[in-house]
Amino acid sequence: MPRANYEPIHRIDTQRKIVALTFDDGPDPVYTPLILETLHQYGVPATFFVLGSQVDKYPKVIQWIKKAGHEIGNHGYFHHDLNKLTEQEIYDDIKRSEQSILRTTGLLTQYYRPPGGVMSPNVMNAVQTSGYDIIHWSVDPRDWSLRRTASVIANSVKKHVTFGDIILFHDGGLNQKQTLKALRELIIDLRQKGYKFVTVSQLLDNGKVKK
Ligand SMILES: [Zn+2]
Repeated sequence: MPRANYEPIHRIDTQRKIVALTFDDGPDPVYTPLILETLHQYGVPATFFVLGSQVDKYPKVIQWIKKAGHEIGNHGYFHHDLNKLTEQEIYDDIKRSEQSILRTTGLLTQYYRPPGGVMSPNVMNAVQTSGYDIIHWSVDPRDWSLRRTASVIANSVKKHVTFGDIILFHDGGLNQKQTLKALRELIIDLRQKGYKFVTVSQLLDNGKVKK
């Protein structure tokens, strides 16, 4: 059994030109399939941190994510403000989501990303008890903000990205149309610069974890 990391993982140290794309807050019935189509078109693997409540609403969509060979992580059941929950409530929310994902896909998730990236002692303790690794991110283009156009989103990644980064996108939420356009632009640009896209677990296999 791999040892769980109770410090959040933001990125890794590596000599290889690799990055991991991650998508939060889905599955979404409209935008997740469009993102899957784009990823398929370019042959890019990604990691989806799904909400159990969305999984229960859109089981087909998460099955497509799995079928396409992407990685699935746990983003909790509801998108709670974790600062307002007890350790037990956070634990229960993680496990409820885990059960939804397991029931729908047969996969037992190993990575947890707390909504809003909240890392309070209650979150740390709940995650430790549930046995997950905590995956944060190192590049955040704030693609959920309605004020951000596709080129603003893509450029903010291009400006900051480096070897071993974990890039945060959203396939659920408010602004996915721009996310989708930015994603295409970014895949083409990073490919031209020689980057390879990997899942979070492939990333972690490739270097020293940066906490
Ligand atoms: Zn989220």
